[in-house]
Amino acid sequence: MGNARNIAFWVVLFLLILALFNLFSGTGGTMQSTSVSYSEFVQKVENEEVSRVTLDGERVRFRGEDGTDYTTIKPEDAEITQLLIDQGIPVSAESQEQSGFQSFILSLLPFVLLVAIWIYFMNRMQGGGRGGAMGFGKSRAKLLTEKHGRVTFDDVAGIDEAKDELQEIVEFLRNPQKFSRLGGKIPKGALLVGPPGTGKTLLARAIAGEAGVPFFTISGSDFVEMFVGVGASRVRDMFEQAKKNAPCIVFIDEIDAVGRHRGAGYGGGNDEREQTLNQLLVEMDGFEANEGVIIIAATNRKDVLDPALLRPGRFDRQVTVPNPDIKGREKILGVHARKTPLGPDVDLRIIARGTPGFSGADLANLVNEAALMAARVGRRFVTMEDFEQAKDKVMMGAERRSMVLTPDQKEKTAYHEAGHAVVGLALPKCDPVYKATIIPRGGALGMVVSLPEMDRLNWHKSECEQKLAMTMAGKAAEILKYGPEEVSNGPAGDIQQASQLARAMVLRWGMSDKVGNIDYAEAHEGYSGQTPGFSVSAHTKELIEEEVKRFIQEAYDKAFEILTEKKEEWERLAEGLLEYETLTGEEIQRVMRGEPPQSGADEDEPEDKGNAPSVTAIPKTKPKAKPTGGMEPEPT
Ligand code: ADP
Ligand code: ZN
Repeated sequence: MGNARNIAFWVVLFLLILALFNLFSGTGGTMQSTSVSYSEFVQKVENEEVSRVTLDGERVRFRGEDGTDYTTIKPEDAEITQLLIDQGIPVSAESQEQSGFQSFILSLLPFVLLVAIWIYFMNRMQGGGRGGAMGFGKSRAKLLTEKHGRVTFDDVAGIDEAKDELQEIVEFLRNPQKFSRLGGKIPKGALLVGPPGTGKTLLARAIAGEAGVPFFTISGSDFVEMFVGVGASRVRDMFEQAKKNAPCIVFIDEIDAVGRHRGAGYGGGNDEREQTLNQLLVEMDGFEANEGVIIIAATNRKDVLDPALLRPGRFDRQVTVPNPDIKGREKILGVHARKTPLGPDVDLRIIARGTPGFSGADLANLVNEAALMAARVGRRFVTMEDFEQAKDKVMMGAERRSMVLTPDQKEKTAYHEAGHAVVGLALPKCDPVYKATIIPRGGALGMVVSLPEMDRLNWHKSECEQKLAMTMAGKAAEILKYGPEEVSNGPAGDIQQASQLARAMVLRWGMSDKVGNIDYAEAHEGYSGQTPGFSVSAHTKELIEEEVKRFIQEAYDKAFEILTEKKEEWERLAEGLLEYETLTGEEIQRVMRGEPPQSGADEDEPEDKGNAPSVTAIPKTKPKAKPTGGMEPEPT
């Protein structure tokens, strides 16, 4: 898309220059000719050196004997026609108006082309231009109908509070008249706030499905366009469309793309976005709640939204959609496993317990991957082992066995990852290590994954410090093993994670006594939804930097100390990883004690290739590595 825009830009620029050229390089015929004085012309005529003459108002074009073309300007009172006829020179005249018109058309042509190409590209950018040739001001709201599958509240699990809060909207949409007769006050809009993949879209669709009304969906980023005014007109169009189809639901995903605090953001105001946002506000104020259009918007960053959006009469209803807890996860797994035959050994509660931090989308993905695993070996049902493998894939990304590492890289990765694992196991507040691997997965060369035993609701300072140490252990390991000169860029990802955590500790969580209990993150961002940004003194800035650095340095030192102390176990584990490539939590413990890891469950034997479990379309979820320092791939 960005590419198409670039091309469009250059084409337009080129044509513009062309048009300008044409405009200035003479409106008349642009034949090459030498201009001469009028008396010279008369002279030539008298000398019979002229073969043909064209009269074009005061302009006289003629051809000399030698075939060259000349032009001259005829004085107003000069009478030449008779003279020429007398001389027997062929004379033709050109209508001045006509040539003027022709040249006008000619000079207009590039502009016409320009506009045509512009429209073409605008349509292209719209994805096929289904809306006809001039559709670029049209909203891109998509209408999802029953054909796309009706979604009901039964399909949404684990977020019962959110469902309860939205039940009212369903009642209203089912029977608007009855509702308003009773004097019920209908919210015009609801804002769903929560991390990605928690089911916000699903919930909005379910409301439409329950109420049996049309569901329009559009993303906030669709409004943000290169051309000023397009976003605003899209908003207008979207509301028009919605009103025509009322009662209905309009779902705006990622509303923060348009709804950011005005006057803030990158490099001071952004006119286009502000116009779009203003238009949205105007439209929301403009329709009556009883018209039956309900706007549902989703965001995971309520803090950056313009407060005007949250005022009564706009998105006055706010519903939090959190990541599911263990019970919620079990229910969501249940919903998605409805169409998947499960083996007798599958216990969804155990899977739910082993997947803290997973969103609804992750869980949907998990079930789907498990079904795929079973299908691959032609089994008719999904086993617990399939779920285990699927979990690894969802958490760590797909294995990339095709990625070839040199023995050196492999060894370094093994020591690096073993470092994470050993330090993680040595520190009591770190989440239990769940798996360590040196098989490249996703974007990492290797990784250590740890999973909390329960849902983590908050972080304590000691936990943060220990987690920092575990994160820095990869680099400490590399330095301890190979010396400071040989350290790779492998720890880049670790350093990024550590910095993020340390900064949060200092800037937001008040965990540094020197900096104190002040939320400097807001100052840092320059603004927040409610409070204006404030500036931070140079002294405090220095202090913040110092403290962030100190937390990370202390964590690194701690990791180094632990690895020095547990050198033998660490080396045993690294060698074990080199040999077995992937080790589970228990196997890691055993290898560190110097025992063989005891090979895990054998691969499932392929059974009959008969009815494999049905596999639904793979939901789009990015694999997420749980934050414990994967090694970044080295640049190739
Ligand atoms: P969001 O809009 O919050 O990013 P989505 O609604 O797009 O998340 O969720 C993506 C997919 O994840 C859904 O289509 C559904 O399959 C699954 N999912 C997410 N949350 C839930 C849930 N609470 N119950 C059942 N499925 C869910
Ligand atoms: Zn690492």
